[in-house]
Amino acid sequence: MEQNDKPRILIVDDEKMNLKVLADLLKEEYSPVLARDGDQALQHAFSDSPPDLILLDVVMPQMGGYEVIKHLKNNDKTKNIPVIFVTSLDSVLDEEHGLKLGAVDYITKPFSPPIVKIRVHNHLRIVHQYKLLDQLAYLDGLTEISNRRRFDEYFQREWARSARSASPCSLAMVDVDFFKPYNDHYGHAMGDRTLQRIAKALDNALMRPADLIARYGGEEFVMLLPETDAFAAKGVAERALEKIVELNIPHQYSQIADHVTVSIGLVTTKINDSLTPQNFVAAADKNLYLAKESGRNRLVAGVIGF
Ligand code: GH3
Ligand code: MG
Ligand code: MG
Repeated sequence: MEQNDKPRILIVDDEKMNLKVLADLLKEEYSPVLARDGDQALQHAFSDSPPDLILLDVVMPQMGGYEVIKHLKNNDKTKNIPVIFVTSLDSVLDEEHGLKLGAVDYITKPFSPPIVKIRVHNHLRIVHQYKLLDQLAYLDGLTEISNRRRFDEYFQREWARSARSASPCSLAMVDVDFFKPYNDHYGHAMGDRTLQRIAKALDNALMRPADLIARYGGEEFVMLLPETDAFAAKGVAERALEKIVELNIPHQYSQIADHVTVSIGLVTTKINDSLTPQNFVAAADKNLYLAKESGRNRLVAGVIGF
């Protein structure tokens, strides 16, 4: 395994010897990062490559382990990193105090090397499974793209960010045309498969990592295009329309084509105080309605709030 693929374990101890013993113990399976005091520990924890787990000494000059963990737990970026205290404080009260501050485990010195290894392994596995569960909670079960919950959270974050950076932001609502007759004639299972293919095609129309496609509900999808102006967003939406046409999924009961099509309502804005996320979505919805009214299989775009 490459060094970089190994989980990073931050080991914090003011005694050089302890650092060495723990690092030697773990370096085969993990990538140890060493800190001699609380300040160094926090620097590593808040860096761009934070550790996956922290082994933290309690008694250190200046900033002790209890203070370090308080900083970690008070910050969204670091609060989920599991912390194991490794300490010579061996009373039950000390252990209780450490666990109450949010440590996942408490190991007393002198420690048994195999037990340290096993505990580190177990806690990393829990974190891994937690991350998998978290990802699942944000996926739409049918199409495996992001779900509405993920969209709502991402939208809120991007909204705040766009407001700060005063950059434009675009949003497209996509709705499948004549999908009720499609279901009625081809069956619900076929309808499901078609929604899966549409989701994938729409996803393929997006190019930037910050773009998000989500299932908004039923046969409706939403594309959020942060830092994307009206011209670029139009390009994306037109590409999305083409991708769906290219799928060429037969639809004999559509009133406008012999294959499945979608309609798109697009809106671009520069976020400001007088505009709410709800207004923004409503504006996209209105354009979607206009796209439907004016014939479907098309894009209606607009700008608001400039
Ligand atoms: P329009 O062109 O105006 O959008 O007409 P439409 O028939 O697509 O719109 P309508 O809202 O009347 O119908 C949407 C249909 O989408 C109804 C429902 O059966 C179908 N649908 C919604 N969610 C699912 C789903 O998860 N699976 C399947 N198979 N069908 C779904
Ligand atoms: Mg529809
Ligand atoms: Mg609909």
